[in-house]
Amino acid sequence: MTRNIRIPFRPVLWFVASLILPLIPSAGFGQDSSAVEARFYLDGSPVKIEIEGSTISRIVRLDAPSSPETAQTYVAPGFIDNQVNGYASHSFSTTELTVEQVRVATKGLWEAGVTTYLPTVTTNAHETIRHAFKVLAEATRDPEIGSSIPGFHLEGPYISPVDGYRGAHQARWVRPPDWVEFQEYYRAADAKILQVSLAPEIEGAMEFIRNCRKEGIVVALAHHNGSAAVITEAVDAGAAISTHLGNGCANEIHRHNNPLWPQLAEDRLMASIIVDSFHLRPEEVKTFFQAKGKDRIVVTSDVTKFLGLAPGVYNLDGKELELTPEGMVKFPAQNVLAGAALPVTAGVGNLMRYTGCSLADAVQTVTQNPARLYGWNDRGELAPGKRADLVVFRIENSKLVVQMTMVAGKVVYEAD
Ligand SMILES: [Zn+2]
Repeated sequence: MTRNIRIPFRPVLWFVASLILPLIPSAGFGQDSSAVEARFYLDGSPVKIEIEGSTISRIVRLDAPSSPETAQTYVAPGFIDNQVNGYASHSFSTTELTVEQVRVATKGLWEAGVTTYLPTVTTNAHETIRHAFKVLAEATRDPEIGSSIPGFHLEGPYISPVDGYRGAHQARWVRPPDWVEFQEYYRAADAKILQVSLAPEIEGAMEFIRNCRKEGIVVALAHHNGSAAVITEAVDAGAAISTHLGNGCANEIHRHNNPLWPQLAEDRLMASIIVDSFHLRPEEVKTFFQAKGKDRIVVTSDVTKFLGLAPGVYNLDGKELELTPEGMVKFPAQNVLAGAALPVTAGVGNLMRYTGCSLADAVQTVTQNPARLYGWNDRGELAPGKRADLVVFRIENSKLVVQMTMVAGKVVYEAD
């Protein structure tokens, strides 16, 4: 590291910094937050990304890395995670949720290179869901963290009540879709619920999907046992993605008639997958990736409040859950997983390892693909005019080690 010659982030130094940048031959990627040097994630070639204010102004190809440090680091668009349930002992689905807890979560995610995420509220009592969305809406207006939270994901309560398909969602709060009830959540959330994950086979689901589409809300299929016909009908009605495909599914299923094949075969459906090495086997990840193709896979984390906690047995909403030293969250009573404890960043490295795909393709699943799903034109790519959301990382043994994260042109995390 060449920290002794680094120029700290000072927006007013932009012109000065860009003048002196080429005069410091051994400077690292982060000596000037207004210009980031590293290998471009798409092809590995050295680039300098110039930033003006909150936006990328120019990307300059370099003949060679200007320092050993830039030769070892990659720069990519900041990662997007569409399913984050909580962080470091704070779940988003509680009546105790505060903006400060959301701040802690957001900062923790920045450390992992996640610059945009959808806080996810799960199956719960009516008042709990309403409170959660009210607080989360407040968080989106917070000047420090708001730009990382464009909206939210509601997973449940409109899911299958059947054990196995229901996963770790509590049976007593599972219910059929109710558009009137949902409107209350939508209002509490300041109309920022961007995605609803539901089971298409339960009564009222099709009409609910159509209503969501009229509002521009992304509908995902999750925790369900939909038949091929039901899945086709749901996609016809506007469902766009399968949530954590391969999970939220019973352990024993019919080899022909199960919800996996029709979702894999439905070309109009994207699929989010949890690639933390526990939720899916490597061969499942590879098969899903090959069936859907790199444009229709979204790697997600489904990370719970266990991320950042010590391994052990915890009591969560009356359930005993276990966090293993490797980062697996288990719900032993039903022999199912209960969310994850590794950030989406781990999934990028695992996806390359399991499928043999390139860094560019793996990064696409946590940047461009989710941005396209939600219709965000300002992020998900590195190009002039895009918001300067960047992550700089090294790759060590197939693991991404984040060095620096920038949100809207501002450095929000730097490794020691
Ligand atoms: Zn789930």
